[in-house]
Amino acid sequence: MAEDLQDYTVIKEGEAEILMNVKNQVFFNKAQVNNRDLSIAVLRTFVSKRQEEHGAMLSKRKKSAEKASEKDASGPAVEEASTESALDNGKSNGECEVHEEISQDEPCSVSEEPVKNSEGNHHGELKPPRVLEALSASGLRALRYAREVEGIGKVVALDNDKASVEACQKNIKFNGSVAISKVESHLADARVYMLTHPKEFDVVDLDPYGSPSVFLDSAVQSVVDGGMLMCTATDMAVLCGGNGEVCYSKYGSYPLRGKYCHEMALRILLASIESHANRYKRYIVPVLSVQMNFYVRVFVRVYTSASAMKNTPLKLSYVYQCIGCDSYHLQPIGRTMSKGSSVRYLPGFGPIVPQECSDCGKKYNMGGPIWSAPIHDQEWVTSVLEGVKSMKDQYPAYDRISAVLTTISEELPDVPLFLSLHNLCATLKCTSPSAVIFRSAVINAGYRISGTHVNPLGLKSDAPMDVIWDIMRCWVRLMSNVFLPVLPS
Ligand SMILES: [Zn+2]
Repeated sequence: MAEDLQDYTVIKEGEAEILMNVKNQVFFNKAQVNNRDLSIAVLRTFVSKRQEEHGAMLSKRKKSAEKASEKDASGPAVEEASTESALDNGKSNGECEVHEEISQDEPCSVSEEPVKNSEGNHHGELKPPRVLEALSASGLRALRYAREVEGIGKVVALDNDKASVEACQKNIKFNGSVAISKVESHLADARVYMLTHPKEFDVVDLDPYGSPSVFLDSAVQSVVDGGMLMCTATDMAVLCGGNGEVCYSKYGSYPLRGKYCHEMALRILLASIESHANRYKRYIVPVLSVQMNFYVRVFVRVYTSASAMKNTPLKLSYVYQCIGCDSYHLQPIGRTMSKGSSVRYLPGFGPIVPQECSDCGKKYNMGGPIWSAPIHDQEWVTSVLEGVKSMKDQYPAYDRISAVLTTISEELPDVPLFLSLHNLCATLKCTSPSAVIFRSAVINAGYRISGTHVNPLGLKSDAPMDVIWDIMRCWVRLMSNVFLPVLPS
């Protein structure tokens, strides 16, 4: 053993310690500490939200059972029985059908969410959430989840590399009783494992080197209803338009090379996950989407509902990017028409732009489709941020992740993509107004504006492009009035 340990150094991150073979350090990626910290923060929020939702569901069921038994004018014995049968129904497909009927009227409703997620037994107890770390390498992430997130259940760590699994098993032992009781490591192809464990994990974590695209189809099937899929993509060159056709083949979406490309990368990944989910009558609700360092990472909840799935075309858009100026426009794929309480689903009206850009006369490139619905749930973001702040010492990357979360909490949630003030000025060949001046001009024109975590110079606004250009023209005029008199004649 002593001889064995000489070959290793111990690396500690958070509560977890891993043995690192000095000859082979590829396992440990220090830049990923932000990623792991953020995931732990989201996981902690997930554990408490899941508990809340389960409690709300139980009391709702109890109430409706009580109502039913009042109608029957029966005694308390029957009431008990009907509560139990309601829970039983929750696990069968029958209940799902009923919920789908109801949710037709309110298409965005996710009210059916906790039906299957809870695995609640007859006494209404919630089992601790099961986590799958599909591509675990040395197991650092799985160990941190198990040791640091209170209330977490089993963590299954997979890898299809024998040496990684051996390292992971060694690390589990090295981390002591909590790790040994909670973490299990298997040699497996993640895709096969996830396909053969459908709707079994409350959280599925995909953190591949490169693209997650080949894992998405099985991952969306392995998550329980209301569970969470966490997914990283590090192939930013592909997602940002370096090879548009490669991106299209992997994600089914064409990227554009705008300043907003990193946000577009997030939205392409979300659209791709949604399309995989749709194949199984499922859909996603993003809670947090982050671009950091050299990767994007999204946290989405997965639900099953054939009727709610009809809303997918409303959440996707093509993007027209002018090749001559900074103007871009979104073309939604679908739309709805409401008549009384019924909703009709129709293809989107188009084209949303003329053949030539009305601002500069050049043609447009078309990219997408991207996810154009919100990429964060602001209530979640607030909860995650509060959680992080209240446990400051527990996060080795506290400064970074709290800063990112703060910026995200201030982002306009319903405005896809963003403009760059520098680019606007480069197009007009003018000096840049300060962000403060530009922001107040947009607000004075009656529109909203915010920053973006993706780019410190990026500005999100719901102002139409012609309003933006009007503001910029005013600025150019103002500048020429100010500076002309001082120019030497
Ligand atoms: Zn243009």
